[in-house]
Amino acid sequence: MCGRPEGATLTTIGLKKRKKGCPIAFRMLHDTKKQEIMLKWLINDTEVVKKALHHSFLINESEILELDRIQTSILEEDVELRLIQPFFSNKGWKFLEKAVKMKRKREIWICPKCNLDIGSKNSILCDSCLLWYHTKCEIKLKSRDKNCNWFCSMCSTK
Ligand SMILES: [Zn+2]
Ligand SMILES: [Zn+2]
Repeated sequence: MCGRPEGATLTTIGLKKRKKGCPIAFRMLHDTKKQEIMLKWLINDTEVVKKALHHSFLINESEILELDRIQTSILEEDVELRLIQPFFSNKGWKFLEKAVKMKRKREIWICPKCNLDIGSKNSILCDSCLLWYHTKCEIKLKSRDKNCNWFCSMCSTK
């Protein structure tokens, strides 16, 4: 909530409000929403994600994206991997745990703005998509809200 009652369509001076959703920090989301987002970081096929969420399918290792394509957000501390364990087969889960471990070891975080490695440059984590940006790539958006959250331009305009 950004200090405005839900459903308000006019600004305080009567102008039409810009259609701009206020993102929610990942850690503030309900578990079911977290589960859906996490599965989408790992699996390309939205049908598979849907079936898994409805418990009509257990995810196997063949469904999981290759290491480089798994979103690095899965490595962040706000993410509890165990939340999605029920959606995987035993083999699928073991494979995922190993993949996440390997990904963590490789320490490659790519800035979505310039597609380059974050490296040791100053960087900032979006509290919604949990992706790291170079501070210089998102220079206009450095301020944090009152809860100390920061959101990237992609999440801010969703
Ligand atoms: Zn960058
Ligand atoms: Zn974001």
